[in-house]
Amino acid sequence: MDSNVLKLIQLKCANCNSTLSRADKFETQIKCPYCGTVNEVTGTMHQDVAAPERIILFKTQENDFDTGICNFFVDQDYAVNDIFEKVQLENVTPIYLPMYLYEGRYDATYSCSVGQKETQLRVGSDFSGNKTVKEKTVTKWTPYNGTARDNYAFLSLAFEGKEITPELAEWTRSFPYEPVYGQKFDINLLSGKGFQILPHNLDREATWHKWGVSTLEYLSEQLAYSQIPGGQQIRDFRSNCSYDPKHDGRLFLVPFWFVYYYYDNKQFFVLMDGLGKNIHGSTPIDEKRVKDVRNLEKLGKWGLWIAIILGIVLMSVHFLTALIAFVVIWLGLKFFTRWKVGSIIKTARNIRTEAYNKLSH
Ligand SMILES: [Zn+2]
Repeated sequence: MDSNVLKLIQLKCANCNSTLSRADKFETQIKCPYCGTVNEVTGTMHQDVAAPERIILFKTQENDFDTGICNFFVDQDYAVNDIFEKVQLENVTPIYLPMYLYEGRYDATYSCSVGQKETQLRVGSDFSGNKTVKEKTVTKWTPYNGTARDNYAFLSLAFEGKEITPELAEWTRSFPYEPVYGQKFDINLLSGKGFQILPHNLDREATWHKWGVSTLEYLSEQLAYSQIPGGQQIRDFRSNCSYDPKHDGRLFLVPFWFVYYYYDNKQFFVLMDGLGKNIHGSTPIDEKRVKDVRNLEKLGKWGLWIAIILGIVLMSVHFLTALIAFVVIWLGLKFFTRWKVGSIIKTARNIRTEAYNKLSH
């Protein structure tokens, strides 16, 4: 058998026309991960594609992804509380995506302005000609130049097409690549597991331009930002990045989990890398909770002004009463709103945790 060829069963979903492909020769049915339709495999659906050089295997199973999703639902502060009752997670899909590994060294020079807050004393005079001294905080900008150099090794998606949603495509960038995860590709690693596989349809060059360049720029900028001293405020950041590739891209198959689900006829998603390191997704939002929290935060912010106005009004009656009222109202509102926001979020979280516990027993 030719080891440079990967034999796939490939067919178009009868319902949504997505391309489905598997490495398993003996599969007779393929369920579409996008719409759930079960498609029959007939004899004429085989396709040979170039085999990848290396593969990163799944370190997680479907129940790990399920647990990840449930924890994700609990962790989202504004997720609707009936998410566990209303949402059905069908069509949970493990997929191998084609990605090029780009390795090498980059060298970036950058320039920017760094802002530092400074307190200055301003001497002036008041209406009656007396000298006054005022404190004023100003931001002083100083130019800063530097170089950022490091090795890079990251994976970029070698596929373009409607089989991968934009969220999933973007998410592939965050795959936490480490050399220890990869191994030499062997077709036997894929058989009998029901993985969806996408063969690559972008070459090294096209993938580099579509994803690689911006990923490398991002890495070099992150390193530059970490080097800038006292850099709480940075503006006019410009950088010029050159790179020296060690390989011009080695083709990998990289494991991911994804699921698309519905709530009130709206579509949401959860994605996880096949190692189980990172999870990402969207959930239906409880608009009332968002509004309640926003209003409380507003009240907390305006509390100082409410206190000042009340203080001034009371000042004409009694100085000490005014002062006490001012402090009590200002601090009271500040702490009350902060406590109330925390309590709203926590109560909602407890409801979701309980629903999750009920589900898993
Ligand atoms: Zn389909």
